[in-house]
Amino acid sequence: MPLKVLFASAEVAPFRKTGGLADVAGALPKALADNGVDVRVVTPFYQGTPTDGTERLDMAVRVPMYFGTRAAGVRRAQLPGTAVPVYLLENDHYYDRPALYGYGDNLERFVFLSRGALELTKVLDWVPDVVHANDWHTALMPVYVNTVEWARPLHGAATVYTIHNLAYQGDEDGGAHFVTALGPEHFNEWEFEHFGRFNPVKAAIRHSTKLSTVSPRYAGEIQTSDFGGGLDGELAARRADLHGILNGIDTTDWDPARDPHIAAHFDRDDLTGKAVCKAALQREAGLAERTDVPLLGVVSRLTPQKGLDILADAFGRMAGWDLQLVLLGAGDPADESRFAALAADHPDRLRCFIGFDNGLAHRIEAGCDFLVIPSRFEPCGLNQMYSMRYGTLPIVRATGGLADSVDNYAGSTGAGTGFVFHDLTVDALVGTVGWALSVWRDRPEHILAMRRRTMVRDWSWHRAGAEYERLYLEAYARRRGHAFRG
Ligand code: ADP
Repeated sequence: MPLKVLFASAEVAPFRKTGGLADVAGALPKALADNGVDVRVVTPFYQGTPTDGTERLDMAVRVPMYFGTRAAGVRRAQLPGTAVPVYLLENDHYYDRPALYGYGDNLERFVFLSRGALELTKVLDWVPDVVHANDWHTALMPVYVNTVEWARPLHGAATVYTIHNLAYQGDEDGGAHFVTALGPEHFNEWEFEHFGRFNPVKAAIRHSTKLSTVSPRYAGEIQTSDFGGGLDGELAARRADLHGILNGIDTTDWDPARDPHIAAHFDRDDLTGKAVCKAALQREAGLAERTDVPLLGVVSRLTPQKGLDILADAFGRMAGWDLQLVLLGAGDPADESRFAALAADHPDRLRCFIGFDNGLAHRIEAGCDFLVIPSRFEPCGLNQMYSMRYGTLPIVRATGGLADSVDNYAGSTGAGTGFVFHDLTVDALVGTVGWALSVWRDRPEHILAMRRRTMVRDWSWHRAGAEYERLYLEAYARRRGHAFRG
């Protein structure tokens, strides 16, 4: 019997996605299934989730909520190209809304997902060995599993809780606790109560058999007050059970030799197609079609996390430099208008695309010479890995997964896979971009060698999948007191 894993996430690519969580949830289960794990994914059926390839099951899950039960319809789909089942929980009241997040009843919407995912396994008569919850939206699952009277027959399941971004904790005023339908006795300092507020991530940290996060560096960082978002003490107390596993990427989706979104295909042995992609991107962006100007790219949510305010300031300092920058981003309206204004002032050097456009994200990764990621913090970051797979060298700040995945260029030997700076200051960013551009002009042989090096590195989920499987087995053994026998 294979290991049975219930994997729950608020977003799963390609169904609905706002960020890296969806990429992980769409790719990790594939790698697990390839290794023979019986993994099943649960996520909401949101407005806009494509219905082709989904089948409405003739069942309703009755989800216990604080006010009584509420029904969830169930649609079944599969992760593309695999037999991994994805169960989409349907409830128009909670999920038939334009956006995924940002509503006053978010806690209730994700209590419904967390509790609904567990109840679904009972209806399917499929008892998981491991329940894997991700980020605050499903943080209640490990708590529910431990709440025996509700959980049966899931009470023996080990729980793994993964932090994809600790900046989002789903914390609310203490009065919100009743929404969990757990009695007020659970609102204590050991579980949900955190300095008077309700904090589901704290409870998950306390209740889960094992914890993980998405890079080794971030696993260390979140145990410090700078990055721990107030939960550093909780995480440090569980450091022996906290594992940093660097994400992989979907190497089928992100493959310069096959990508349907880009103008020409290429690989490490023949980069001619990359030059075609650069010209096509310059054209698409309305910039001069020149091979002799370095083209920099940004693909990012516009939030303070991403440090793009520093890039905007730095751009002013690079006013005299011969470079082009293409930015694709959406989010904070203040950032959107700041970049739009900068682009209006520098139409020959800067093009901003505001919005979410997956195809364009691929074309930027493929067509640019460099991708700039000046994050304040970055749990893992996927874009630097995508860019390296496309031979686009990342210019990154040394934080979290950026530090774990990019090796700084060593001028003397030409070693390295990108350009790394440490201080989040305009000076450091301007200095590092200047350094990268001077290498691009003066040492093209080093740039070419770096591109090739980055393109052959194994970014697949294969490695990370094996690490998660090991973590599941450790969690299982801890929970049951004996090894998984299969
Ligand atoms: P985060 O999860 O913090 O947003 P990651 O680098 O881990 O950062 O993942 C971001 C993912 O979202 C990548 O797949 C990236 O290509 C994609 N992405 C971000 N912004 C956009 C956008 N405006 N248009 C298209 N894709 C985007």
